[in-house]
Amino acid sequence: MGRISRRKLMGGALGAAVLASLAQSQAEASGTRQTRTRYIAAYDTESPACLAACRKVVAVHKKLEMPATFFITGTTLEANIKEYKTLLADPLFEVASHTWSHKLLCDNALCGPAVAADEKREEIFKAKALIENVFEKPCVGLRPAVGFDKGFRGAVDVLTFVREAGFRYVSSLLWGPDCSMPALIEVPFHYGADGFTDLWELPGHGWHENLLKNHNQWGARRLTLWPSPMPEGIPTRFVETPSDEFEVNRIFLEKALGTNKPHLSLIWHPWSLHAFDPQMKMLELTFAHVRRLGLVACTYAGLCQHMSS
Ligand SMILES: [Zn+2]
Repeated sequence: MGRISRRKLMGGALGAAVLASLAQSQAEASGTRQTRTRYIAAYDTESPACLAACRKVVAVHKKLEMPATFFITGTTLEANIKEYKTLLADPLFEVASHTWSHKLLCDNALCGPAVAADEKREEIFKAKALIENVFEKPCVGLRPAVGFDKGFRGAVDVLTFVREAGFRYVSSLLWGPDCSMPALIEVPFHYGADGFTDLWELPGHGWHENLLKNHNQWGARRLTLWPSPMPEGIPTRFVETPSDEFEVNRIFLEKALGTNKPHLSLIWHPWSLHAFDPQMKMLELTFAHVRRLGLVACTYAGLCQHMSS
């Protein structure tokens, strides 16, 4: 099937919303903004197919001098230590943890229950140690497998392990309310309400892009809310081309800028990006738009440093 129009993909009301948002963005880019929205390219690197994908992802990032955070599982890194060190030991990149073996640290209504306490500990500590050993610098961030609609709020057992391990931030808020898609453009916060003022939550936003492509083979599923808090971010069908995917991405980029959010970071998986778009055209389209909008590209570690100061 050929390329479909943005209006058809994203629903009738979208065109006007995008134009209004872009106009607002351009007005703000003209010099009246006090804070600048950061953009973080981030990759949940979690399966054998991610290595070939990361070679292409990294090439695009180096060509465009675009920073990125790679959240990698310990088992993925362990299977190809030399290759990942060659690819990711670059000042452009942050390497952070995506747990040891992608086991769940909390319950997720769609993805399953949490593992036992001893397994949580291993997931949190073991990958951090390997990443630090391989890359010879501190691993300061943790993105848990699948993520949660409340982040780690109330998960004192997990937060205790995370602090003990020495992480400075987590990126665990990756779903909309009631385990829905998309993840809304939530702002960073610290876990002071649970007794962890020194631990930041830096949420991810938008769709887990694999779900936009039916790469989990879930088919039609109850993923969205009614009424939706962000209807313009819900396409009418699975995306079919890199341009379709970019049209979804731009909604979130422009909304984050238009509403003056501290950051915007989409939830991407190298294996899924590569299976859908082996030339990584979507990355080029998205990064060009990030530059056009004047977003400040950084890593999650960079955002953490900014929030802490
Ligand atoms: Zn994952």
